[in-house]
Amino acid sequence: MNPTATPAPMTNFDKTTIPSRVEPHSPTEMLFAWSNGETYAVPYFELRFICPCAHCVDEHTGKRTLKRENVQPDVRAVGVQAVGRYALQISWSDKHSTGMYPFDLLYGTCARHGLRIG
Ligand SMILES: [Zn+2]
Repeated sequence: MNPTATPAPMTNFDKTTIPSRVEPHSPTEMLFAWSNGETYAVPYFELRFICPCAHCVDEHTGKRTLKRENVQPDVRAVGVQAVGRYALQISWSDKHSTGMYPFDLLYGTCARHGLRIG
């Protein structure tokens, strides 16, 4: 069984929760401040790995085709853009920028892989 398929704890997240601040936190982490008051530092590596785009996940089976060993250990975000009111498009230092990350995916990744700092 793929451990990354386990649902992340969604303790304090609902439809109205949005990221209020997203910015570089350290050379290896992105900061996410959420409208529910929680703030997390999340490894870029984990965010890059969970990219939900068609290059990284098989559209038909939903299976992740991107392998952890194929993610650069020092990958970092070089740009973040809002997509409507539901997702962020993140551009990466490995030139990959097709991933649109829905807020619930980002929050789940914060809860699972992030360090809560606020
Ligand atoms: Zn992708």
